[in-house]
Amino acid sequence: MKQLMAAGGMKRRVLIVDDEMINRELLGAMLAQSYDVAFAENGAQAMEALAEEEHGFSLILLDLMMPVMNGFEVIARCRADARLRNVPIIVMTSEKSAEVKSIRAGAVDFIAKPYDMPEVILARCERIIELSEDRSIIRSTERDKVSGLYTRGYFFAYLQRLLPRLTAPMDALVLNINRFHILNELLGHEEGDRILGTIGAQLKALTAPMRGIACRSESDTFFLLAERQEEYETLIAELQKRVGEQTGARDLRLRAGVYHCPNDGTNPENWFSRAKAACDRIRGQYSALTATFNNELHELTVFRERLSSDVQDAIDNRGFVVYFQPKYRIQGERPVLASAEALVRWIHPELGFISPGEFIPLFEKNGLIHKVDHFVWREAAAQINRWREQYGVTLPVSVNVSRVDIFDLALEKKLLDIVEAFSLAPGDLMLEITESAYADSAEQLNEVIASLRNRGFKIEMDDFGSGYSSLNMLTAIPIDVLKLDMQFVRTMLSDEKKRRLVELVMDIAAFLEVPVVAEGVEEEEQLRALKDMRCDLVQGYYVSPPVPAERFGELIEKELQEKGDWHDNH
Ligand code: C2E
Ligand code: CA
Ligand code: CA
Repeated sequence: MKQLMAAGGMKRRVLIVDDEMINRELLGAMLAQSYDVAFAENGAQAMEALAEEEHGFSLILLDLMMPVMNGFEVIARCRADARLRNVPIIVMTSEKSAEVKSIRAGAVDFIAKPYDMPEVILARCERIIELSEDRSIIRSTERDKVSGLYTRGYFFAYLQRLLPRLTAPMDALVLNINRFHILNELLGHEEGDRILGTIGAQLKALTAPMRGIACRSESDTFFLLAERQEEYETLIAELQKRVGEQTGARDLRLRAGVYHCPNDGTNPENWFSRAKAACDRIRGQYSALTATFNNELHELTVFRERLSSDVQDAIDNRGFVVYFQPKYRIQGERPVLASAEALVRWIHPELGFISPGEFIPLFEKNGLIHKVDHFVWREAAAQINRWREQYGVTLPVSVNVSRVDIFDLALEKKLLDIVEAFSLAPGDLMLEITESAYADSAEQLNEVIASLRNRGFKIEMDDFGSGYSSLNMLTAIPIDVLKLDMQFVRTMLSDEKKRRLVELVMDIAAFLEVPVVAEGVEEEEQLRALKDMRCDLVQGYYVSPPVPAERFGELIEKELQEKGDWHDNH
C-alpha cells in the first residue's frame, strides 16, 4: 500500500498552511517533488480545504500565528472532527513554548523556523505519514483474518478516498477459485482457509509492483485494483503455481475477470461487478485463466438487467408460459403416460422466446427465482386441477424446486397453500430437486426434504449422477424418485462404462425401492436398452418434447382412448 500511495501518479497530498508567502513557497519547493501540495493562507482557508469530503490529505503543515484563524484553533477543530482526527499535523514555529503547547493540543511534531535543511524536513514528513498510515491500518481492524487482505467494506471505502488521486489507468480484477467448495469439502475447512491465506499473501506480493490493493470480497472471491497491465495470464498462472506449491493443492485452478476502469466517475462497485461478469464467463473453462469484460459481455449484462426488470411483468401478463413434458412408464407392453414435468418458457413481448437456460441460472443468482418458481408451481397445480375436471384423472406433475428455494423458510407453507388452493394432495405436485443442491448445503437440504416428505410431498432427485455427491447423498437423504442425469442416456450406448454405471444406478434404486426416471431419451434404441435394465420411466424427445397444456391434453385423451382402465390407475 505504501508503494501505491508514493507512486508517481498517486502522490499523497500535503496541506501547507502559512500566512507568509515566502514560507509557503519554501516549504512547497521542498515537498513538491514527493507530494501533491496544496496551500492555505490562514486557518479558515485550511478548514475550507479540509471540509471537502474527499480532501485526501495525508499531512498538514501548520503555522501557528496567522490572521483570521490561528493554528491552535485549526488543531482544536481537527481533533474534534472524526473525519479529520487522524490526519497528522506538524506545526511550524520559532517559539519553544508554542511547540510544547501545540503538541499538547494534538500536533504530532514540529519544525523550527527558519527552515534549514530540506532533507530533514522531507524525512520528517515521510516518517510522520508512514507512522500515521500504519496506525490507521491497525486502528481499522478492517483486515480479513483468513486472507490477510482488506475486507470488502474497507476496500471500497479506501478506494473512495484514493480515487481522486489516481492518474494512471487502472484495472479492476475479480479472482476466483474453480470449484472451491469441493476443495473445501475434500480437504476440510482449515486447509481451505490455508489456501485462501496463501492466495492473499501471494497476491499482495505479486501485485506490489503494479501498485495493487486487494481484498477478499467473500468466500473464495478476491478483488484487486491495479495499474493497467498488458495481460494478466502470466500473473494468474504464477499465483496459481505458487499457491499450489505452498499448500500442496497442485490442481488448484484460478480464474480472473478483468475490467478496464474508465475515467468517468463511475462507481468502483460497478467496475468489480463487470470484472466479475467476465470472471463468471470462464467458470469451469480450464483453458483460459483470464477474461476481459468487453462489448459482448456488456450487452449480455444489459440483456440480463433487462430480463430481471421484466420478471414481474412476465408474471402479471403471462409472458411466462408453463410447458409440460410427459413421463412414460415403460415396463408394460407399450409406454403408458404416467406424469409430467412442468418446464417454464418465457415468451417476451419484445425479445421473443427466451430459453430457461438463459434466465434460470441468472435468477438463481439474484433471487428472482423465488418469484418465477412460485408462479410455475401455481400454474402447474392449476393445470392438474383443470385436467382433473376435464378428464376425471389426477395426473401428477413435477415442478422444479431450485436450490435457492431450499433456503426459503416459507417454502413448505407456500407449497401447502398452493395444493390446498386447488384441492390437491401434496403428492400430486411432485418436487424435483437437483442433486447439486446437496453439495451446497447437505444438512439444510436433508432437513427440508424430511419435513416436506412428512407433509406428503414426493421428492424426485433430479440430475442424479451429475455431481460427485450422489452416493453420499442417497444414504443421507430419503427420496421418492431418482432422475438419471441426461448425460448417462446420451452416452450409454457408445460407452460401455457409462452403461455399466446406469445398471449400477438401477441396482441401487431397486435396493432403495425407488423408481428411476431416465431423462433425455431421444431414440428407440435408448428406450429399449433402458427397458432391459429395468428402468421404470422415461422422459425425452423420443416420446414427446415439452408441450403447451392444450397439446398435453391431447396426450391424455389418446391414453384414455387406448386403454379403458387407464383412469383407474390415476
Ligand atoms: P431439467 O430440470 O433437467 O429439465 C430437463 C430439460 O431437458 C428441459 O430443458 C427439457 O426441455 C430438456 N429435454 C427434455 N427432453 C429432452 C431430450 O430428449 N433431449 C434433450 N437434449 N433435452 C431434453 P429446459 O426446458 O430448457 O430446461 C432447462 C433447465 O431449466 C431444467 O433442466 C431446469 O433445471 C430449469 N428449469 C426449467 N423450468 C424451471 C422452473 O420452472 N423452475 C426452475 N427452478 N428451473 C427450471
Ligand atoms: Ca427437472
Ligand atoms: Ca434433469
